Parts: sequence; structure tokens; C-alpha cells
Amino acid sequence: MTRDTTPTDASATASTDEEGPNFVADLVAADVAAGKHGGRVVTRFPPEPNGYLHIGHAKAIVLDFDLAARFGGRCNLRFDDTNPEAESEEYVEAIRRDVRWLGYDWDGHEHFASDYFEQLYEWAKLLVRKGLAYVDSQTPEEIRKNRGDYHSPGVDSPYRTRSVEENLTLLETMRAGELAEGAAVLRAKIDMAHPNVVMRDPLMYRIRHVPHHRTGDAWCIYPMYDWAHGQSDAIEGVTHSLCTLEFEDHRPLYDWFLEALEIDPRPQQIEFARLNLSYTVLSKRKLRRLVEEGHVDGWDDPRMPTLAGMRRRGFPPAAIRRFCRRIGISKREGVVDVTLLEHMVRDHLEHTAPRALAVLDPIKLVIENYPDDEEEWFEVPNHPTDPSFGTRRVPFSREIWIERDDFMLDPPRKYHRLAPGREVRLRYACLVTCTGVRTDDEGRPVEVRCTFDPQSRGGTAPDGRKVRGTIHWVSARHAVRGTCRLYDRLFDAENPSAGDDFTDHLNPDSCIVRGDARLEPSLAALAAGTTRQFERRGYFTVDPSSTPEHPVWNRTIALKDTWAKLVARGATG
Ligand code: ATP
Ligand code: MG
Repeated sequence: MTRDTTPTDASATASTDEEGPNFVADLVAADVAAGKHGGRVVTRFPPEPNGYLHIGHAKAIVLDFDLAARFGGRCNLRFDDTNPEAESEEYVEAIRRDVRWLGYDWDGHEHFASDYFEQLYEWAKLLVRKGLAYVDSQTPEEIRKNRGDYHSPGVDSPYRTRSVEENLTLLETMRAGELAEGAAVLRAKIDMAHPNVVMRDPLMYRIRHVPHHRTGDAWCIYPMYDWAHGQSDAIEGVTHSLCTLEFEDHRPLYDWFLEALEIDPRPQQIEFARLNLSYTVLSKRKLRRLVEEGHVDGWDDPRMPTLAGMRRRGFPPAAIRRFCRRIGISKREGVVDVTLLEHMVRDHLEHTAPRALAVLDPIKLVIENYPDDEEEWFEVPNHPTDPSFGTRRVPFSREIWIERDDFMLDPPRKYHRLAPGREVRLRYACLVTCTGVRTDDEGRPVEVRCTFDPQSRGGTAPDGRKVRGTIHWVSARHAVRGTCRLYDRLFDAENPSAGDDFTDHLNPDSCIVRGDARLEPSLAALAAGTTRQFERRGYFTVDPSSTPEHPVWNRTIALKDTWAKLVARGATG
């Protein structure tokens, strides 16, 4: 019987002995040992539902969920839905699906920043009453200009000294929808000369007369990320709030809000370096452009670094988790070599994907001494080294398909495949010797003629003669015609974001479609997401658009392992 690579598996939190250094885990372990937060660990993964999750998010998901599991805590899924213009329910659902697919369960601890809009508003009024927030009526341009920059201090707004009563009234007017967008904002009153620009009276609310995918028309003022995030963490009892380095400058503000509100105990924000991957862009803005400008076929195009794309491509979630653990967590920005991820995928599939025969670019081979009315079925192993994969039967007959590039009219000396007068092994079947070839008007081969050695059944030479080449094949009479999409990296530059525009570096050969592939019968009716190794051709996964009448297979990854070569050369650092 065959084993399938299933799209999910239960061992999501199992750790391996090859995990990279993780300073966040060390900090959390120290907190637990010291009894901080009563020894509890609560984390959260806080995506904004304005796009699909990518492999960078996977790094954060694996960190957040693994830590919670390791210390017997929990990880909340919190949607940071504070920008209604860009957000939607489609993205919420895609994010849920992708986190689950990656192998994690938030156990019903699903929250939305929008669940806290009323509480946040109450807290905003509290800060106003404490004299720690004010309504600013400067124009957006004036606010920007008066904030100053890294070199020069900001300038106080003329509205900074409004009375508590006036501020409360104006804030209510804002909420009631009586002011136009841009007419006023609520700001924290901190210090316009603060050396950290983030602390120069940061915005807490802005007016947006747009409906929200969850709260509808209930609000026309929306909290800024900084005003929502720490408070949401506190409401949920989060102990360790892990985010990427760009929020480091925001940590003083995160703490300032919690202190001003006298919230205790307080969650702790810890920043780590985001994942950057060679030959890849990882920013939702850029990924959205790829989708909207039609460079790819949607967010789940198998070339996209999104989790949805990787699922469709056939990347096993276990390989992605292993990759995320292996790269570790640090504060140092760097670029991870994409061949490491590819290696993890290949290494996983090597042990989990049954083998099969498929010819991607077919040319007919006729075995002249094989009777036309005969056929036989060879019992072949589903895995070369693991007998637990079992066997299957593969049909053989007089006419078979072989790869066009497994035949050459005039081959160089080291070519060990088929050519006039040469003998090769048909994998699992027999030895054949090429007796001739039919060509078209331009001299291109259209049909290869052979004879077979009836004594070589199974593929071994009866007299022990040496046959160097082995090629794969599919019986023409039994073959299923299908499409194989040969995916390669979407970008042909190591850093696509260097230079003017990342779309200049799109790889023109990132998807080569073989619409006339011939598959052995067992490949016809497999469920979407099923992965096989097509012998000598790579790992392939059934696309959701596949039908039994016309199967569609996506190449997950080719067989050649660049990473393993780098390791052998000691070149992986
Ligand atoms: P992008 O920069 O791709 O648009 P984002 O940071 O705006 O992503 P969010 O939905 O806000 O996307 O991210 C949710 C969480 O995932 C955040 O905690 C964020 O820090 C983390 N995250 C996003 N990108 C990466 C990355 N490349 N590496 C590690 N963590 C990331
Ligand atoms: Mg973000």
C-alpha cells in the first residue's frame, strides 16, 4: 500500500536537536525560572488581515506557538484589525487556514483588536482626564512638519494646551462622526522634543469614515497600532509580546501607555530580527503588487512565498517548521539562503513521497520485437530504500513514452542514455537497444525504434553485461495525459529589492508548462495536495485544479540539492 504526504500533521510542537540559537526562548525560560508572571507564558500572533501570510510570518508563528507549548502556556491568534480600508474577512479566513495548515491550534483563543474598541475608547478618555492626551486640530501636513525629525526637535501644537473639558467634548464629536477626516486627531501628550521621534505626542486616533469588516458603521475613529497593541496584549493577559525589530523604537511608547493607564501586570515587548530570504520578497505590499499586476496567478500561486502558495506548491508544513526552528531567533538582521528551505522540503519528501513514473516531454519509443497484442504489469517498489511504502503494478507494452532528452541522434561520448546502436535499461522493465529513428522533415526525431532482450526482464542483463544508462518510461496505451508545471524561483536576483523596482528581477522561466506529459495510471486520480517523486524528474504535487481526466501536477522542487552541496563544501557559514 502507498503512504501519502498529508497536508497537516500533529507533531507541530515537537522540537529537534538542530534548532538554532533562540535568545527569546532563553529570556522566557529565565522569566519562568524566576517566577515572573507567576511562571505563566502567554504569547500572541498578531497578523493584520490585509494580505496573506508568508514565510516570514511563519517564523513568528513558530516562535510564538512553540514557546507557549514549551512552557505549558498558550498562544492567542489576534487579528490586528485597526485599518479598515485594507482589511477584509477574506484575509481573516485565509490567515486562520494557513496557521492551522502550518500545524498550530490557538484553542479558541481568537481575538480581534476591534473587540477592544470600546475599552480603548474608555481608556483614551481616561488619559484625557489625566491630562495625558489631547485633541489636535492641526492639518495632517502641519502635524508632520511640526514633528521635527531625527536631527531637530518638534514644535508644540497650538492645541496642546486645550482644557480637559474641551478635549473630552471634541473627542466625543470625533466619535460621533461630526468631523471630517483629517480635521482632528487624538494625541498622547508626551514630549515634542523627545530624542525618539515615536514619543513626540504620537497619534492615538484618526478619523476614517469607512466601514469596518467587523464593526460595520459603529466607528469612524480608529485606534493607531501603537495605541491598540500593548493594551490588547494586556487585556488578553499576554506575558511576552514578540515582534520584529522595527518596533524597537516603539517599545518606550508601548510601556508609556501601559504605565499611564496603571495596568499591572504588564506584558513585555521583545523584538527579534525578521526573516529575509534570498531570491524572495517578503513584504505584503510587494506581494500584493505581484498579485494585482498579474505577475503571478493569485496569492496562492505556487511561486509565491505565501503559506497558501507553498501549500499549493506541495511544501510540507513540517519542513517549513523545521526551517523556522533551524534558522533561530536573534537581533541581527541577515538574509537566509533560500536553498536551506529548499533542502528542508527535499529532505522531508525524500522520506515521505512515494515514487512514480512520468514523462514530461514525451517522444514515442517502439519495441519492434514486442508483440502488439501483449502487455505485462511489473511489480515495482514505491520507495527505493523503505519497504514500508509497498509496491504497485505498472503496465508495459510495445509502445512507450520516454523523455525527448533521453535520446540523442549524435551523442557526446559521456552520454549514457539512448542513441542509435546503444543499449539502455528501461527502469524496472528490460534492456532495449536502439535500432533506428524516424525523423520529421527537418531531421528532428519523432519516434525511436528499439528491440528488447527478452532475457532481461526486470532490467538485469542475463550475461552480466554492463548497461550504464537507466531511463524512465510510461506505457503509451495506458498513459494518462496531464499537465506538469515546472516551477522555479520567481526572481532571478539574489536580492530582488535592490535597485529600482523588484519586478525588474522576475525570472522569465519561473513557470514552464508541460501540457502534454504522460503519467503512469496510478497518478490519474489523486487528491489535491498529494505528493509523488517522479523518478529522475523531481517532486510533484497535485494542483487543486486537477481532474482525473486531466491531472495537473506542480513541481514542488527539483531533485538537485544545492544546499547539500554547499554543506559538503563547508560553505554554509
Ligand atoms: P509585511 O512587512 O510583510 O507587510 P507585517 O509586519 O506588516 O508584514 P503583520 O500582519 O503586521 O505583517 O505581521 C504579523 C506578525 O508577523 C508581526 O508580529 C510581525 O512582526 C511578524 N512578521 C511579519 N513579517 C515577518 C518576517 N519577515 N519575519 C518575521 N516575522 C515577521
Ligand atoms: Mg504590520
